[in-house]
Amino acid sequence: MLNVPPQAFPAPGSQQRAAAGGRTKVPLKPGRSLMDWIRLTKSGKDLTGLKGRLIEVSEDELAKHSKKEDCWICIRGLVYNVTPYMEYHPGGEDELMKAAGTDGTDLFDQVHRWVNYESMLKECLVGRMAFKPIAAPKGMLSEREVLGASARDTTPSYDWFQTDDLITVVIYTKQKGMNAELVIVDCQHKRLRGEIILDDHSYLVEVDLDREVQDDFAVNIAEKVGKVEIILKKKDHFQWKVLGLPLESHNTLLRRMERGLFYRKCKLVSKTEVTHDTKLFCFMLPKSTHLQVPIGQHVYLKQIIAGTEVVKPYTPLLPFLPLDFKEPFCQDGAHIYLMIKIYSCGLFTQALDHLQIGDDISVSNPEGNFKKSQVEALEDLFLLAAGTGFTPMVKLLNFALAKVDCLRTVKLIFFNKKDDDILWRNQLEQLALKDERFEVQFILSEPAEDWMGKRGKISSALLSECMKRSKKDSKVLICICGPTPFTQQGLQCLEDLGYSQEEMHAFTA
Ligand code: FAD
Ligand code: NAD
Repeated sequence: MLNVPPQAFPAPGSQQRAAAGGRTKVPLKPGRSLMDWIRLTKSGKDLTGLKGRLIEVSEDELAKHSKKEDCWICIRGLVYNVTPYMEYHPGGEDELMKAAGTDGTDLFDQVHRWVNYESMLKECLVGRMAFKPIAAPKGMLSEREVLGASARDTTPSYDWFQTDDLITVVIYTKQKGMNAELVIVDCQHKRLRGEIILDDHSYLVEVDLDREVQDDFAVNIAEKVGKVEIILKKKDHFQWKVLGLPLESHNTLLRRMERGLFYRKCKLVSKTEVTHDTKLFCFMLPKSTHLQVPIGQHVYLKQIIAGTEVVKPYTPLLPFLPLDFKEPFCQDGAHIYLMIKIYSCGLFTQALDHLQIGDDISVSNPEGNFKKSQVEALEDLFLLAAGTGFTPMVKLLNFALAKVDCLRTVKLIFFNKKDDDILWRNQLEQLALKDERFEVQFILSEPAEDWMGKRGKISSALLSECMKRSKKDSKVLICICGPTPFTQQGLQCLEDLGYSQEEMHAFTA
């Protein structure tokens, strides 16, 4: 039996009730949570109406099934009867009906591209599209489409060479300012995958190598010329005739959002209490991975829960708040730290909390739309965080204090329910004592009577009282992160207070 309480789940604040980024928020009926859906799929009930038979579906046939009570949708060439799923869809029935009787791949990718519908809807599979696979290779673009004919010279390319011991794969990104955060390499079981992030695009080298290599490898980056070398160690001294067999997406340049998420298994190395319900998890990347998570970006964790793949985003931070800001804290590149609140009836966090030291979890490549250039030449930085919405603020705070010379003030306005919910309170107060540019203000929505600080929830009045520019017309950035209604209300308040869109950044999925 699954140890998940079936009642009142998910609660009104749950992520399962709200599509990411605040796009849509549809209250699900009781008994219609993801866990309830998983239970239904395991019940043996015929969810397709075809008694387990798989058929080939023509476009005409697909189009006939476009009503709520008889709704088929094609996702990546596979057709599902989604009628039984309607009431369980976090985005709501209307959202699902937008794709009724058609190819919904793009729609599904736009809203929750990390959700594995193949796994979630496997019991609803009707069959395969008869002719063209409707969503052909995900978003593959020609060079001309991506960059425009005139910019063709900037398309990356690769080459390789070898010595007796080494194989060197060289990627010419043709982009200046390459750095380690833009290079993600995995080499597992002869499969080499090197992804280079080029603004909103990604270039991929992906081959099944000719022969075995050792687990560890080196990555050298010539920042100025944009050359990336991946140096693999041969297991034997054979001369390779070819680098290997190109895989499907090898040597492609795609928009990042159109590249499938790639996961590698990471080991849980420690789990420490931060507050009564929040823990700091440390995961170790395999030796065969080169990955650094940039400021403000999140990763997806994937677990199989009751036979279904469940994926949730989390924002890596630092193991502690450094107090010395001469240089940004340098991570070792081998560990990922996540501060995670364990909800008593949370599907994913309960499973996470049950992980033992040494257990594996799948961790994706990073994603997110924060750019370091947003803090360049900044004078005032305001961080509005609620609950675990604090997580993206940590690396940002560290980077701004260390790297932005003209920075005069950084103020964290930290909204929580009670005082024992405040994350890293001690560390934040110590930092405020140490660095006069930094100030922290705690605001509680459910304080105890003896709380001396501010009370309430985010509002224009509260923000105008707490946020003061260091000088008139100073260059300011306000970052906000927390529950979706908090972020939405916060952005509205800031707009009402006269801040421009360029002066605000909301961390969302
Ligand atoms: P669900 O099964 O979705 O919800 C179950 C129960 O949890 C609910 O009934 C409710 O009681 C409770 N619950 C869930 N969400 C809330 C909420 N917002 N407010 C009150 N109660 C709630 N979380 C972190 O802890 N650390 C992070 O670094 C982090 N980074 C994120 C980054 C992004 C981009 C996004 C979009 C979310 C992030 N989250 C983070 C939230 C995380 O992805 C999950 O939504 C969260 O862990 C709950 O998952 P769950 O499956 O356990 O809960
Ligand atoms: P919580 O429920 O403990 O609430 C913390 C504070 O948020 C409250 O004290 C209140 O001031 C404010 N708040 C909560 N609900 C509100 C509402 N409806 N309207 C206005 N203000 C409200 O918070 P939590 O359980 O720690 O949840 C943190 C949230 O932050 C989660 O929803 C999580 O998904 C999100 N998060 C997002 C990112 C990201 O997008 N990058 C990163 C981390 C966390």
